[in-house]
Amino acid sequence: MQENSKTLQQITKEKALSLPQIQPQMNQTPKIQNQLEDMPSNTLPENHIVNVIKTLKAKQDDRAYIWFDFDLPSNGKCGYDKNIKMREMTTADERVLIKEMFSSKENSLLNVIQKCVKFEGQPNFDFENLTTFDQDFILIELSAITFPGEKDITITDDANHKISLKLNKSELSLSLVPFDLEYPVKVNLPMANLSWYLNFTTLKTLKEIDKATKSLSGDVLMRLFISIALTTNKIEKNGQAIKYDNFYEVIRLLESLTPTDLKIIIDFYNEKSNAYGYKLNKDYYCTECGKGGQMELEPLNFFRVTI
Ligand SMILES: [Zn+2]
Repeated sequence: MQENSKTLQQITKEKALSLPQIQPQMNQTPKIQNQLEDMPSNTLPENHIVNVIKTLKAKQDDRAYIWFDFDLPSNGKCGYDKNIKMREMTTADERVLIKEMFSSKENSLLNVIQKCVKFEGQPNFDFENLTTFDQDFILIELSAITFPGEKDITITDDANHKISLKLNKSELSLSLVPFDLEYPVKVNLPMANLSWYLNFTTLKTLKEIDKATKSLSGDVLMRLFISIALTTNKIEKNGQAIKYDNFYEVIRLLESLTPTDLKIIIDFYNEKSNAYGYKLNKDYYCTECGKGGQMELEPLNFFRVTI
């Protein structure tokens, strides 16, 4: 399961790194384009390569302006609109994405999202405020509209047999934040008599979590504490908000909880972190074992935004 839990950023980066020959070609691109524009294409026959390229490019430019409507899984509950407009990625977008990933530009995916996605009512929206599951949703939809059609996938069963399958976008199941969900989400810790309110993780919070985990050189449990502390909206005791100055104090409060309370809040955090967005449960049958089953897969492993 571990290889399925890689982030898309890692996957696309690995993919990009395995294609190092692309970069020098991209650097030459502007020159080639200029040469094409300088050529008197009207004197050339229609089937000349210069005219064929011009027609194909014009088609791409037109297509770039078709915007599709989508409803985000956060369902309007997280401080931004439910409805979002998305256009398919162009080859130019792909080039920028791959180029940025080569130069390890941290926000390469976010930069593409900013170009291909918009909120009609919030033109200056900071896309770092997206929840992580909304970002995943956007990337999967971008992939599906840019590269439509069935995917050939290979899965590995318990006996280490490789099984080839077809995957359609329609096989993904989408889980929306319920419209009547109380947000920030709340969990009660009975031993400490606390009500703990959590936000969903946004891209901005995720960066803060990564940074804090590095600086505290944390183990898995510390990363979990940091994640919970940085997504904490407020904590109440007997209906009164507990005051704190920084997330380190929240970590200390977490560390002082009984194992029972700690298990409750960790389970709650994990459940809420994985509850929404696209999920993929794929039925398979292995002819070698003569048996099958269902496997939970990470959709972003198959719906990629790079060529
Ligand atoms: Zn098998």
